[in-house]
Amino acid sequence: MSLSRFNALQTMESRFEPISTDFNDSKPEKIASYFAENVFNDSAMKKHLPENAYLTVKAAVQSGQKLTRDIADIIATGMKTWAEEHGCTHFAHWFQPLTGKTAEKHDSFFTLTHDGRVIEEFTGSALVQQEPDGSSFPSGGMRSTFEARGYTVWDPSSPAFIMEVGEGKTLCIPTIFVTYGGAAQDYKLPLLRSQTFLENAAVPVAQMFNENVTKITATLGWEQEYFLVDEALFNARPDLAMTGRTLLGRPATKHQQLEDHYFGSIPERVYAFMRDLETESHKLGIPVRTRHNEVAPSQYEVAPIFEEINVAVDHNQLLMDLMERVARRHKLRVLLHEKPFAGVNGSGKHNNWSMGANTGVNLLAPAKVPGTNLRFITFFVNTIAAVHKYADVLRASIAHAGNDHRLGANEAPPAIISVFIGEAMTNLLNQILDGKNDNDGEVERVLDMVAKLPNLQLDNTDRNRTSPFAFTGNKFEIRAVGSSQNCAGPMAVMNTMMGLQLIEFKEAVDKLVAKGEDQDLAILAVVKTLIAKSKSILFEGNNYSDEWKEEAKKRGLNNFPSAPEALDVLSQPLGIEFYGKSGVMDKVELEAYHQVQLHAYITKLDIEAKTLEELLTSHVIPASLRYQKELADNVAALRSIDMVQGARMQVDLLRRISDDIAAIHSGLEKMNAAYDKAHAADSLRAEADIFCNEVKPQMEAIREAADDLEGLVDDQYWPLVKYREMLFIR
Ligand code: ADP
Ligand code: MG
Repeated sequence: MSLSRFNALQTMESRFEPISTDFNDSKPEKIASYFAENVFNDSAMKKHLPENAYLTVKAAVQSGQKLTRDIADIIATGMKTWAEEHGCTHFAHWFQPLTGKTAEKHDSFFTLTHDGRVIEEFTGSALVQQEPDGSSFPSGGMRSTFEARGYTVWDPSSPAFIMEVGEGKTLCIPTIFVTYGGAAQDYKLPLLRSQTFLENAAVPVAQMFNENVTKITATLGWEQEYFLVDEALFNARPDLAMTGRTLLGRPATKHQQLEDHYFGSIPERVYAFMRDLETESHKLGIPVRTRHNEVAPSQYEVAPIFEEINVAVDHNQLLMDLMERVARRHKLRVLLHEKPFAGVNGSGKHNNWSMGANTGVNLLAPAKVPGTNLRFITFFVNTIAAVHKYADVLRASIAHAGNDHRLGANEAPPAIISVFIGEAMTNLLNQILDGKNDNDGEVERVLDMVAKLPNLQLDNTDRNRTSPFAFTGNKFEIRAVGSSQNCAGPMAVMNTMMGLQLIEFKEAVDKLVAKGEDQDLAILAVVKTLIAKSKSILFEGNNYSDEWKEEAKKRGLNNFPSAPEALDVLSQPLGIEFYGKSGVMDKVELEAYHQVQLHAYITKLDIEAKTLEELLTSHVIPASLRYQKELADNVAALRSIDMVQGARMQVDLLRRISDDIAAIHSGLEKMNAAYDKAHAADSLRAEADIFCNEVKPQMEAIREAADDLEGLVDDQYWPLVKYREMLFIR
């Protein structure tokens, strides 16, 4: 039998010894000795740039000022020297188009002069700007063909780094990707704009508490979940290879019900992969720190120490890229899809978000110094108010085909956005709310209580894992982000909503102060109205329960279970105002962004539908027919010798198999009819809708029949690697 499944299993089993684990054994023990060795960071800049150029770049990064051409030339020369010392021959502008992945176009330092001499050069203009073939990236129709050019522009706030692929080394320059006219075509430019917007809004608020605050940056610590599968098994599953998830597959009889995988011991092969990944990450300055098993079998997590948001986003994008490459060395494949396997947990990417000031304080941490907690309460309550007001925009930022399988499923955050803050904070907010505004001393009492907050003992273990948005002691954790997503999307929304909210807050406080109110009392009064207004977003109970859906509806919280409807807000007043007012995306950019997201959704489902059809017609059905014939022959043979009774089980099996085949046949017809209807729709939105509500349900119905067949057909005939083989064999 030359079934690909058995070949794959054999290949995997032949890996009796762990795949080489010595990729980085030359590395000394101490991480500090090689951490960020491939990054053009502060110390590399200091060493390779003249002092004035070094100081100019630093100032430019701090203030966002433009660099002059002369300085760019000097920096480029320094970068090139550094890169060549590290063995680089090429450079690339590295960017994050709306595909969600990263892109890079490599150019050699090597060039010819007009008189034919070979030189190696890297000019300031090559550093600052490049022109990749823009037309191959999604633009949402923003570029008509005669303006197809797109530009990548250096982002000096994220350090250049060296990407090592095999023997090749490339100097990578983080860039933003824009149209000829300068419109955003990537995830980075909106993120950078949102950061500036947040900073401008947050600094004046923070200054009410400490006038030394001059700079505020959002911080991000992501937690990346993923699955690992043996490479041979991966290759024997066309659906995994084409769509990143299994479109078919009968859940294994043991999946995660024993709950023995989470924090369990890490299999050796996986451990080797993790160590290798960590070393590669550390060389690139990605401060990964945590690794553990996740809830589902073969599911794992890696998390870094948090960083300034822009760099953290770049590092997550880099890490996802590294993961895929390092996994291949170990004959493994990493699955970043949100739901690679039915019946076991999906993968998310928790985004831990906060804001840090130049004074060294985390604005979402309860203060250690009693008396300064009004600042914490201010930022804390404003975050809740922001989420309350802009929940739909946040929901849109995590809407995509992969996440649809996860959000609302019974182990993942629901599609309803709510905020969990824990018992201590709930009590505190209630007390602020109950405080009276007149002069009976209540306000003073509450202020006093706020001031003494550290005594309240915030319980860090007070966790609600079912919440999509949870306060975890000194940061908010946005848990509904999908594992394959670029964090920049949801993080730009977080920054922006907070900025919008803080501007409103400051105006309200200023108004009261102008009327003669004491500043602290004014702040407390506004905080109080905010709590009252946004209380409905707070939920401490079980987010997976059906009661919550009911309750949320009563509270007026939206529930958008599918991506196309969740994205609608981008063309509605709330979304347009959100992006327009903040300047994070103008109308054209927003419209294009919406179109790109819809298009991506449609394309993903299109590929899935076609892959499913192929799996069925060329794998599942042929195997089933073969077994069906064997059974039919068997029945006929028994009957020919009058053993009708002896054929009863076979007849029953035959019937069930035939029913499933018939169900697949009619399901495919219906799916294809819906598919054609979708492609004939007159707008992307309508097309997405048909894919969502007509094609997808058919795919699920077909899957049910096919998975049933998997349980009926002779194991020897079954062509697709089974769940138990993918999830449990190490
Ligand atoms: P878990 O949520 O799994 O218990 P932790 O709470 O320890 O893990 O941390 C999760 C992530 O939150 C880590 O990446 C950590 O660096 C990050 N984090 C901690 N403080 C902040 C902060 N002020 N801003 C952003 N992220 C933070
Ligand atoms: Mg966490």
